[in-house]
Amino acid sequence: MTAYITTPIYYVNAAPHLGHAYTTIAADVMARHHRQRGEEVFFLTGTDEHGEPVADAAHALGIEPQELADRNAARFQSLLPLLGATNDFFIRTTDPRHEARVQEVLGQVRENGFVYQGTYEGWYCPRCADFKPENEIDPGNLCPIHHIELTREQEDSYFFKLSAFQERLERLYEEREDFVAPRTRYNEALSFIRSGLRDVPLTRHKLTWGVQVPWDHEHVFYVWFDALLNYYTALSFARPGEDLTSTFWPADYHLIAKDILRFHAVYWPALLMAADIELPEHIFVHGYLLMEGEKMSKSLGNVLDPVTVIERFGADALRFYLLREVPFGQDGTVSTLAFQTRYETELANDLGNLASRTIAMVTRYSDGAVADGPLDPTLAGDFAGLTERVCTHFDRAELTMALEEIWQRVRRLNRYVEERAPWRLARDDEQLEELERVLRTLAEGLRTVAVLLWPYLPTAAERLLAALGSPDLAVAGAELGPGHINAVRPIEALFPKDTEPADDERADD
Ligand SMILES: [Zn+2]
Repeated sequence: MTAYITTPIYYVNAAPHLGHAYTTIAADVMARHHRQRGEEVFFLTGTDEHGEPVADAAHALGIEPQELADRNAARFQSLLPLLGATNDFFIRTTDPRHEARVQEVLGQVRENGFVYQGTYEGWYCPRCADFKPENEIDPGNLCPIHHIELTREQEDSYFFKLSAFQERLERLYEEREDFVAPRTRYNEALSFIRSGLRDVPLTRHKLTWGVQVPWDHEHVFYVWFDALLNYYTALSFARPGEDLTSTFWPADYHLIAKDILRFHAVYWPALLMAADIELPEHIFVHGYLLMEGEKMSKSLGNVLDPVTVIERFGADALRFYLLREVPFGQDGTVSTLAFQTRYETELANDLGNLASRTIAMVTRYSDGAVADGPLDPTLAGDFAGLTERVCTHFDRAELTMALEEIWQRVRRLNRYVEERAPWRLARDDEQLEELERVLRTLAEGLRTVAVLLWPYLPTAAERLLAALGSPDLAVAGAELGPGHINAVRPIEALFPKDTEPADDERADD
């Protein structure tokens, strides 16, 4: 089994922000989960470096576009280790190996008869690097996304015959209802297709900052086609001396944000059809994180800045918060106050305290040893089928639902501690066997949740599993059962609470 997971390549014109971190974290969580299932995973991210906005921004700074691209690509790359991202490759679209492959694939599209020469005239947004259809322009000729004035542009262009794929795309959506998810995005893409597809410009004549069109050197490819092809080209050169295309293509999951739905859900499959390349399995569209600036935590200020959060609380906390707070696939609000609340109630209390208490009790009542024997059947029902349900959610990119399944068990284990009150059992010699069984059950329960939480909380999960003396991360062995743990070692707080707001913080509810 293989799994190929991608983020969009990030446009180097902007600085990395929470939105980029969000997609990268989600893709990383998926990649880690699939590795835990013993699958061979390829996780790709990178930067989109061509197009007019980059050229314009570079000229405004008095430098060459390549220099600006180098500078900004490095900023995106440096964010990855901070997030705990385990990408297998970082593609840059100015890589000559990518460019050569783009020329090859689009040359094939032309040979297959889907490219013709013409003149394009339309309203163009330089920030989008895209012409805007008349029915999408805001009053006053404004870009609906950027709210800047559009310019009327006319230029010689080679066109991609998108209209030729109308029926094939409709059929694709009929036959593969999971091609785009969630359902609202599937419907949105399908209704765009049904509204009638028109041919789109494939090349730019006035621009030089792009991949040169091999059959006409006065043109460069329109940045979107060059960018989309990264998912395909990367496999051919990511590993030196090897072509991974036949191993990993087609991609299993393209994760994207909804602003680039049409390019991925309509142009991209059409382009692949035109080049006789197999289509990806799934496109999953996540929502936007809306910042609630007035819900402000003293220690983090009013902006949920990924780097600040990571410096104060660690990458695990940011990964957890983003996938826990906002159902993956929907829009949702985030705030530094909500972050801090979840950190304290869920990470520090629910999980952190459970781990500290369990390990402390095993240490105190049985010298750190976990005696052999059966587990308490009370929890069997609550944990039965857990790993299967988690895997099913992951197969549908339902990252928040998978996390909720696991977190219900974290809460169940906390209730179990209260129900069995090991400290009371410890006072009665007659109850020694019961005490041992309760502690064993708790330790094994912790192990199960730690293995399943690893994609979200890699650092904490690894520390916890090391303290339990059971470092195996395989999902196949995660089900609750006896025999994995012989002894525990002391552990420092997984999520220290040294981040309490100062006393003078105004009450803010
Ligand atoms: Zn725009």
